[in-house]
Amino acid sequence: MSDPPRLLDTPDDLRLQSERWRAAGMTVGLVPTMGALHEGHRSLLARAREECDRVVASIFVNPTQFGRGEDLSRYPRPLEHDLRMLAEERVDAAFVPAVEAMYPEGARTTVHLDGPLTEAFEGAHRPGHFDGVATVVAKLLVAARPDRAYFGEKDAQQLAVVQRLARDLDTGVAIVACPLLRDGDGLALSSRNAYLSTEDRAQALAIPRGLAAAASLYATGERRAERLVAAVRAELERSPAIAPDYVAVVDPETFSEVDEAVKGCRIVLAGRMATARLIDTIRLGYDGVPALAEASDAAAERSNPMPGRAEWSPPCSVS
Ligand code: AMP
Repeated sequence: MSDPPRLLDTPDDLRLQSERWRAAGMTVGLVPTMGALHEGHRSLLARAREECDRVVASIFVNPTQFGRGEDLSRYPRPLEHDLRMLAEERVDAAFVPAVEAMYPEGARTTVHLDGPLTEAFEGAHRPGHFDGVATVVAKLLVAARPDRAYFGEKDAQQLAVVQRLARDLDTGVAIVACPLLRDGDGLALSSRNAYLSTEDRAQALAIPRGLAAAASLYATGERRAERLVAAVRAELERSPAIAPDYVAVVDPETFSEVDEAVKGCRIVLAGRMATARLIDTIRLGYDGVPALAEASDAAAERSNPMPGRAEWSPPCSVS
């Protein structure tokens, strides 16, 4: 087991640490998280470890990105487990600030991106969410001044927001997009899966099944967004425990809806269940079909380029 990461708990500490590294000519990678780390997070940490001289991960359950009535107070915070994973991945420093360190008395600045990118989908269903995300990410980028920052495609809209923000604020930070990782049954890994009852988890598998159906349809040549969405919704309807918030085919950068899908477009969806709200996505023409416990669809089998693996995805891309 490697040494535990150095603990940093104020933005000043983070800045000083990063300045020291950069002064010594080292590159710095940043992996922002809210903790409750799983294999999806691990893939980001491993990627950062591979590509950067020094890696800092942040663990901060950012209150400003949670709406009223959301799960801020019950969000899991298994810090010891998280620090163990950071040590396993040979992360150099863990930035674990208290809320007051990030938002001291008197703080008045919010970073806001306007337009459909932040107003549609997650933005519509979680008002103010992307203001919270943009503000905390901007603060992390300013304090850590990383060369590269790692984000998962699991939160595809968040990734697009961060890419836009990094460009608009002339940060010079390379935002590295990392593929979505799934559990063996096809469900996208998420810290929030811990909320799911056994019954809800079984029903939730309609989500990857729906995406698999749409990916198969796309693979057979279907390009009409309406048809692809209908294929997802048909699966979701078979699981009455899921109330879909949205299912759509979007441009991956702007998140505007498209009528005709082209390679690289995303299907995005969110569904509410009694015990958790889940989001998921695939990139059409790139992401393979999730391996599903109940997959009986031969077409789905054929179009999974790595049978038996949770999901095939292309290597990380950088913008
Ligand atoms: P979170 O702790 O949920 O805020 O996530 C921290 C980072 O990990 C974000 O960039 C997420 O997109 C990424 N992430 C979360 N789940 C997954 C997953 N299943 N696969 C890949 N990345 C993920």
